[in-house]
Amino acid sequence: MSEKKSGKRPDGRAYNDMRPVKMQVGVLKHANGSAYVEFGKTHVYASVHGPKKVHPRHMEDGEKAILRCRYNMIPFSVNDRKRPGYDRRSVEIAKVISEALQPMVFLEEFPKSAIDIDLEITQADAGTRVAALTAASLALADAGIPMHDMVAAVAAGRANGEILLDLTKEEEDAKDAVDMPVAMAHRDNKVMLLQMDGDMSKEDLKQMLIVAKEGCSELAEMQKAALREKYKVE
Ligand code: UDP
Repeated sequence: MSEKKSGKRPDGRAYNDMRPVKMQVGVLKHANGSAYVEFGKTHVYASVHGPKKVHPRHMEDGEKAILRCRYNMIPFSVNDRKRPGYDRRSVEIAKVISEALQPMVFLEEFPKSAIDIDLEITQADAGTRVAALTAASLALADAGIPMHDMVAAVAAGRANGEILLDLTKEEEDAKDAVDMPVAMAHRDNKVMLLQMDGDMSKEDLKQMLIVAKEGCSELAEMQKAALREKYKVE
């Protein structure tokens, strides 16, 4: 664990602290599986429907299930009202989340089926894709979809010369900001998603990977606790 240096961030967090995290599974009555996740002021709901028949039929795969992901920021999730509907960003985020989760799911157990993951960002303050991915993994588990492993995700980055974990929008808006969303599998810390935005040195990258790994491990424990809470496994 890297040393905690406290009290330097606008919200009083140490550089390698997460924002306050909340997780709950089984929050939606009409989904097969669901989860709610908060990373500070970033709030997300994830639902899973399926495995079910594929519509339209031509999309079905005779060998395995298809995993479809939809990501949406609702109009009142950000300061300036966001225009409803999809844009390039939401399509890209849905794609990277889906690609991070596909290797985790035993898709071959459900040929000719679809598993739909819907992600709704109800409030955004940076880190929505990583909070959504963390919630999606929980919702898949809640739906009882067989998985090789679960995934936890958090952003590491740099702002004002410091390597940070779980950046807020204010930190992401710093002049020298670097943002690096990372997702890791629980058991072996295999990297399932890594994106980068901004200029960084090799040393910055090394430090960011260290804090991201710590953040993912913390989140993995919270995910397991959230599932135990619903299913009351001691
Ligand atoms: N954001 C916004 N309006 C938009 C898109 C993004 O206000 O249309 C804000 C929002 O707070 C979001 C942040 O910018 O969380 C960072 O967005 P980014 O694309 O880096 O993805 P994220 O960090 O949310 O995964």
